[in-house]
Amino acid sequence: MLKEVITKYYSDLRKEMGQHHFYITDAGKCQRAIFFRFKKAPAEAMEPRLLMIFDHGDHIHQMIMKALFGARKMHVVAAEVNIPPQEIVSGRADAILSDGKDLYVLDIKSINGQIFRNLSSPKSDHINQVQLYLHFFKLKKGILLYVNKDTQELKEFLVDYNQQICEYLLRELSLLKDKIEKNIVPPRISNLSDKWQCQYCQFKEICKIAGPEEVDWNLFKRKIEAISSMRTS
Ligand code: SF4
Repeated sequence: MLKEVITKYYSDLRKEMGQHHFYITDAGKCQRAIFFRFKKAPAEAMEPRLLMIFDHGDHIHQMIMKALFGARKMHVVAAEVNIPPQEIVSGRADAILSDGKDLYVLDIKSINGQIFRNLSSPKSDHINQVQLYLHFFKLKKGILLYVNKDTQELKEFLVDYNQQICEYLLRELSLLKDKIEKNIVPPRISNLSDKWQCQYCQFKEICKIAGPEEVDWNLFKRKIEAISSMRTS
């Protein structure tokens, strides 16, 4: 009884997310998956267990922030800070910290124990996010703090602002916005190092049907609707 209620809560929440604008977490991610999300394309249901893991991450953030609010060496200037409004992307940094000399954007990532143990440098998609926070807050230094969900161990990495990375990421989002408006489905990921995203993608099935190249969304939509009605009849 409760399982259904909790599953519905998380599924509805997820459906509401990110269908109208880009989030900073989209930067550098698969453009096709973001396109499908905007167009509300048929997606595989996400396991409620996975959705609850995201929420668990929020509790870890609160725990870290509690410790930082009580710290002396580094103090919290602001927590949960939205980037200044502009038309391309929205996002909220976990905190802006000060060591009395410099300001730092803090981004907290909770990850599972196995990934944590093998982590010797920050993940590229996390660096992209911090870069954009730095860009919009006009700051030069960021900290990526990884928390092992199983043991609460910590690893931290400093990130220096890189204007070229930011310009590239914003240009890519702007090109994607154009494709969304013109109804052009972007090509499939071709870069091997980015393929890990396909493993967790909710659009795997329709992505396979679309093929590797760009396609017209309106034609493709009719195709998937026809396939879906054949399956249900
Ligand atoms: S399956 Fe891979 S290439 Fe296709 S939409 Fe998902 S992440 Fe992108």
